[in-house]
Amino acid sequence: MSDSHSNAFIDYLSNMSWNAPPSAFPLESVMVFFLGAVFGSFLNVVIYRWPRGESITWPGSFCRTCLTSIPWWANVPILGWFVVRGRCAHCGNSYSFRYPAVELLTALCSVILFWRMGLSWSFAEIWLMTLMLIAGMGIDWDHMILPDELTLGGVALGLVGASLNPERSLSDAILGVLLGGGFLWAIAYLYIVWRGREGMGGGDIKLLAWVGAVLGYQAVPFVILVASLFGSLGGLALAAWSKSAGAESGSHWLRPMPFGPFLGGATILYVLTDGKAWVAWYFGLHGL
Ligand SMILES: [Zn+2]
Repeated sequence: MSDSHSNAFIDYLSNMSWNAPPSAFPLESVMVFFLGAVFGSFLNVVIYRWPRGESITWPGSFCRTCLTSIPWWANVPILGWFVVRGRCAHCGNSYSFRYPAVELLTALCSVILFWRMGLSWSFAEIWLMTLMLIAGMGIDWDHMILPDELTLGGVALGLVGASLNPERSLSDAILGVLLGGGFLWAIAYLYIVWRGREGMGGGDIKLLAWVGAVLGYQAVPFVILVASLFGSLGGLALAAWSKSAGAESGSHWLRPMPFGPFLGGATILYVLTDGKAWVAWYFGLHGL
């Protein structure tokens, strides 16, 4: 990438509108970050318990090995994991690093969205979508399932939001559902007819319809492109890694990779950075 292209990209990012910059909203920024970390902690519970059919509100957190309940100070979002060094104080069972990582990711996404959008209708809608996406990404990664409650629920929320939110257009949202859902459904259907097996899963298509409902049809091509790119890179890296590590057949790493985490990741990248910056960078790269 030549200097002029990277400069154009940085220019675009620095000219992006920041409706609530941290310098003007320091206290609010801290509050949104903290709230995001608490929501992230709740998302960990949802990701773990929901697919297992357990209650997400009761009981409180407990060690899955020795069943001791986890003390409040070890449960503090992000920091608690480091305080107990990722281990149960009672039996020494280790807790996944994913717990604080999800909390930090949720907190960072929350505060960056707040800086970008300020307190607005769109912030509320996109914040909620981001939280639901993180839950869906975690569940899909673990179980290869994208629950309809998230994806179709997201489509419904997105269409209701579009008809109430004066900041965006209902027709963009409807076109988004049609492009994300209908068009891709048709491609997936043709693929099955042609190859006799499923290419993209039904959950992925519903997720794209959800993206279209909340972000409009404009976001759909970006999300498909970026998710496919990272999905292929991830697949190659995983194949190379599992080969060199001599992973045994049937290992967790050799199963087909879920596409939902990549679709969700691309969507979050789009809302955090304003996808138009990447489109500008891409066309700059090709001198268009
Ligand atoms: Zn324990």
